[in-house]
Parts: sequence; structure tokens; C-alpha cells
Amino acid sequence: MGGKKGIKLIDENGLRHDGRKPDELRPIEMKVGVLANSDGSALVKFGRTHVLAAVYGPKEPIQKFVLLPDRAVLRVRYHMAPFSTSERKSPAPSRREIELSKVIREALEDIVLTNLFPRTSIDIFLEVLQADGGTRTTAITAASLALADAGIPMKALVGGVAVGKVDGVLVLDIDELEDGNGEADMPVAAAPDIGRITLFQLNGVLTREEIEKATTMAYNAIQKIVEMEKEVLRRKYLAEKEGDEK
Ligand code: ADP
Repeated sequence: MGGKKGIKLIDENGLRHDGRKPDELRPIEMKVGVLANSDGSALVKFGRTHVLAAVYGPKEPIQKFVLLPDRAVLRVRYHMAPFSTSERKSPAPSRREIELSKVIREALEDIVLTNLFPRTSIDIFLEVLQADGGTRTTAITAASLALADAGIPMKALVGGVAVGKVDGVLVLDIDELEDGNGEADMPVAAAPDIGRITLFQLNGVLTREEIEKATTMAYNAIQKIVEMEKEVLRRKYLAEKEGDEK
């Protein structure tokens, strides 16, 4: 067996190049309130993929023409830092970054209760500090935490993860090597508490059965990711409460 470029991605024991089982997530770290000068912030790490999210708002934006009379406008900027990739990335926003900003916004827009804040904007800045595959789904997870940290009401928390296919095997939370050498990459974002999938993309080829299996793998993992988000927010809330009582 070998990947597209002859790289072996599943070994004789059925393990991946980094020792993970097919349905295993990378080590995940989540922190909220990491920035002093934003209304809400979060740093999320899926293995070597690290994304920082900063939220400003709801506020009255300088450019009034973007305002909507009945709800807040959600603005998202996904950006890869020049030092985030193995080859220095140009700091200027690429087509890919502009498109990703849009799909990430769509993954969050329906979840945020924007109708509570007419004529305001909520700005979400997503900075990829280190990229090793899955930056869009990590960015969505970080954005969800940063929105909650900013106290912005949401219908539910959102999480994301990509499922891929390497050496004919469906694998959870693919990294850059698996993405670049595998047969398929399927990023998914969902709000499991309200049973919604808010981002679903497929690069490569899967059978219908594989798509169903991959969706279940992603959805189950997102349930775990969202539980982690809740735990991180709970801990911050308790720490703040303790601070207030002192
Ligand atoms: P995602 O990060 O959501 O998986 P892609 O599938 O487009 O999005 O990218 C896969 C991975 O390829 C990224 O996470 C990153 O590690 C790498 N990558 C993407 N764009 C660049 C770039 N301009 N330079 C170097 N590596 C990149």
C-alpha cells in the first residue's frame, strides 16, 4: 500500500504515520481569554495546527454601509501568518484565504443570534499561527470559543474536524502529510447540540457509503470537541467567579 506519491500512510498494524489509530484525534488544546485587547479570544491547537481567534463586538463599525437593520453583520477574516507554513506564505490575503473566510462565516452565521444586535458588526479574526492540515476546522472551533468568550449569545457551540482517506482507509483529523498524499479530504463543522452541520466539503473521491461513514466519524468527534469547548468555558467561568469572591 502507498499514498498518491508512494508514501506509506497506514502501517502493517493499521496505524498512521504519527502512530494514531484511524479514528483518533490529534492531541487537542484549547484556551480562552488569551488576548487582553479583544472582547473574546481563544487559542486552539490540533497537534501542530495552531489557530488564534479574536472577536470584537457587537459594535458600531466605522463603515456604516455594512450595517443591517434587523441583525448584526458577522465579518470573518481567516489569515495564515507568513511563518505558519513550511515555505513562507505571502502576508497578503490569497484567493484561498478570501474563500475560506466566507465558508467559515457561513459555518457560524446561522448559529450566532445576530438578530439580538441590529445595526452592529461582530468581527472575527482568525490567525493561523502554525499550519499542519485542518486549519479551517480548527479556525471554526477557535471562533466558536472566542464568540462564547466574548459573551455573544449563540444557539449552540460549533466544532470542526476533517476526515480523510489514506491508503484506502478513512481516518479522522488528517494532517498536512495525509491531506497532501491521501485520496480524500472532507472537512466538516457542526453544532451537535442542535443537530446541524454548518460546513461540509469534499476534495477527492469517496463512495456514498464512505461519505456516510466519514460523516458519522466527523460528527462523533465534533461532539467530543464541543464537550471540550464547554469544559474550557466552564473552567474560565469558575475561575472568574472565584476571583470575584476573593
Ligand atoms: P485546511 O488547512 O483547512 O486543511 P487546505 O486543505 O487548503 O486547508 O490545506 C491543507 C494544509 O496545507 C494546510 O493546513 C497547510 O498545512 C498547508 N497549506 C495550505 N496553504 C499553504 C500555503 N500557502 N503554503 C504552505 N502550506 C500551505
